[in-house]
Amino acid sequence: MRIPMIAGNWKMNTTVSEAMALVKEMRPGLDRIDNVDKVICPPFVSLSAVKELLKGSSIKLGAQDLYFEEKGAYTGEISPLMLAELCQLVIIGHSERRQYFNETVELVDKKVKAAFKAGLKPILCIGETLKENEAGKTEEVLAKQLSLTASQAYNAGLVLAYEPIWAIGTGRAATGQQANQTIGFIRRHISQQCSREIAQAVRILYGGSVTAANIAEFINQPEIDGALVGGASLKTSQFLSIVEQTSSFKRGK
Ligand code: PEP
Repeated sequence: MRIPMIAGNWKMNTTVSEAMALVKEMRPGLDRIDNVDKVICPPFVSLSAVKELLKGSSIKLGAQDLYFEEKGAYTGEISPLMLAELCQLVIIGHSERRQYFNETVELVDKKVKAAFKAGLKPILCIGETLKENEAGKTEEVLAKQLSLTASQAYNAGLVLAYEPIWAIGTGRAATGQQANQTIGFIRRHISQQCSREIAQAVRILYGGSVTAANIAEFINQPEIDGALVGGASLKTSQFLSIVEQTSSFKRGK
């Protein structure tokens, strides 16, 4: 039984005071919803303040990235040890990091391993560009992005987020059927790489222009265990509705 997860990626939005106001607004509604892992990922600078505001809450806190070294002369970077005092999860390999900061499969894998070593649970993002999709290369690209992910990572609770790049922040979401089909491929691939048990146990989220209006389309699909939500996670009513719909549907299953 895979517990559904809805994770909000706030990206480079909200100052510390804005983040605090948003958390205060969301917390009561989110705390009333069970049966879903609820995660918010504000910018690094707000993690400490948000952690304080989430004391006693069922909402989990995540970061949006990390560096793989524990400490040292890496100006501007944030280490897994620093994050481990503040949050439980961390998004790794988001397509914006791969695209704008040239993160490679090798670097992403180092980050995944460093996160686990510090006791953080990674949400590993994978996904293809529009060009790769149109060239029929989606499966090849996803397999490459997963090529270094070993059984140990899945067994330790790695969460995957399938995020087709053409659907992120574009308002052009995949259809539920498309996402289900691709996530089905990911599960079969993990089954071949690792084992059937591991493939059945890993949680795989969909991400890309998810809103309160289309979340049902995704969570109604058997392979999809929730969503990584960008834009809509900054709006309390949207985010609450996405979590609420996920809880109701998956509870009824
Ligand atoms: C994301 O940031 O991972 C994302 C899916 O963004 P959006 O929901 O805005 O497309």
